[in-house]
Amino acid sequence: MSHPENHAPSYYAATAKGFESFPALDGDATADICIIGGGYTGLSAALHLAERGRSVILIEANRLGWGASGRNGGQLHSAQRREQSTLESWFGKAEAHRLFDLGEEAKALVKTLISKHHIPCDWQDGLIHAIHKERYIDEMQHEIDLLQNGYGVEDITVLSKDEIAARLGTSVYYGGWREQSAGHLHPLNYALGLAKAAKNAGAKLYEGTRALRMIDGKKQRVETATGTITADTVILACNGYMHGLDPTTEARVMPLHNFILATEPLGERAKALIPGREAAADSRFVVYYWRLSADNRMIFGGGETYGRHFPADIKGFVRKHLLKLYPQLSDVRIEYGWGGTLAVTVKRLPFMRRLRPGLYTSGGYSGQGIGTATMAGKLLAEAISGEQERFDVFARLPAPAFPGGKLLRYPSMVLAMTWYALRDRL
Ligand SMILES: Cc1cc2nc3c(=O)[nH]c(=O)nc-3n(C[C@H](O)[C@H](O)[C@H](O)COP(=O)(O)OP(=O)(O)OC[C@H]3O[C@@H](n4cnc5c(N)ncnc54)[C@H](O)[C@@H]3O)c2cc1C
Repeated sequence: MSHPENHAPSYYAATAKGFESFPALDGDATADICIIGGGYTGLSAALHLAERGRSVILIEANRLGWGASGRNGGQLHSAQRREQSTLESWFGKAEAHRLFDLGEEAKALVKTLISKHHIPCDWQDGLIHAIHKERYIDEMQHEIDLLQNGYGVEDITVLSKDEIAARLGTSVYYGGWREQSAGHLHPLNYALGLAKAAKNAGAKLYEGTRALRMIDGKKQRVETATGTITADTVILACNGYMHGLDPTTEARVMPLHNFILATEPLGERAKALIPGREAAADSRFVVYYWRLSADNRMIFGGGETYGRHFPADIKGFVRKHLLKLYPQLSDVRIEYGWGGTLAVTVKRLPFMRRLRPGLYTSGGYSGQGIGTATMAGKLLAEAISGEQERFDVFARLPAPAFPGGKLLRYPSMVLAMTWYALRDRL
């Protein structure tokens, strides 16, 4: 199978549907809104703004969906990246409820967009959370009680050690829970579907067009190598791939590399692994996450690096993690291995801000971007249209800068992450 030009050599690129090429910007252009970055954040913002009748230009340095949005684990989670108990202790019950509601709306929004725009991205219901340490089981039960009694969540099933082993084909977990309304999808095809929907709604999309500089003034100006865009409002939607455009965002949104493999198709063997075809994610700090693809491959993610480079042998790097859960797959061929760059914040909550009049930024979804980035696009469209209230629920979240500034944050982050990764093993 061939990989469409300039995309990571992933299983997703090899099975992409509806690839379309978009031109590079050629000359000067004007729009109400200029969006920089063509992942879920930018594409969803383009779609929602265009649906509101605004003129939109989106520029993407590479291909649409080239970044994390075209390479991720495909898992659509519920609520926020942080537990509700943590959010309640940080922000109080009322704010925690607002965040929960927006997280649930994000999950619903993804599913609505898939069906409304007929996006062929293999949506599959069901997600299992697996607990890798016995002492976490009590915390898990406490969180589930809170979700069921405080937030009215009804679709959770608690799984015993034996039940989770039967559902996931591995006996390494002490228990967990299953959610029916979360699930998984083909992430690149979802991104391409959003692009098509945004284009059909009237947004102008450009590929191979990198924003080089932003100039503030009565109007906003974005310079690229092949032209300048003049707009009332600019949205920065570059997430982990922003290099030098905005120091405020970059001090708070830290890029991290994460890696995935796809096995050969497993045919009948797949049924014995995950008979219910759910996605699964575990309780490690450096999370293991996995699922079966529509053609019965195991898609498994695990392992992170914090330096500038990807490992030379990504397949081997991820396979050693896979075999910890599934030693029975040691004879299976690994057909694809790829990496991507996500972005985290200190609090593992998104960074959404109006940085100054005419400039918005959104990113740092901390591994939960399929729903949150899609929702961010909708909230940006609301805020730019004068409906600030829901955007502000995120905009008022605290967002400390990483210690060490842009240059020194890597060493301090590496130390902190290595410590937490070590704790996974204790
Ligand atoms: C390996 C991996 C696994 C993950 N697994 C999951 C998961 O299972 N579930 C989940 O919810 N989330 C997951 N995530 C996170 C999720 O993919 C991201 O949060 C989400 O895709 C972010 O979308 P985005 O649009 O903000 O950024 P991106 O998709 O990264 O898009 C940013 C785009 O901006 C472009 N860009 C950057 N600078 C410029 C510039 N100057 N000019 C023009 N364009 C520019 C880049 O080329 C890029 O295409 C994972 C991420 C990775 C990397």
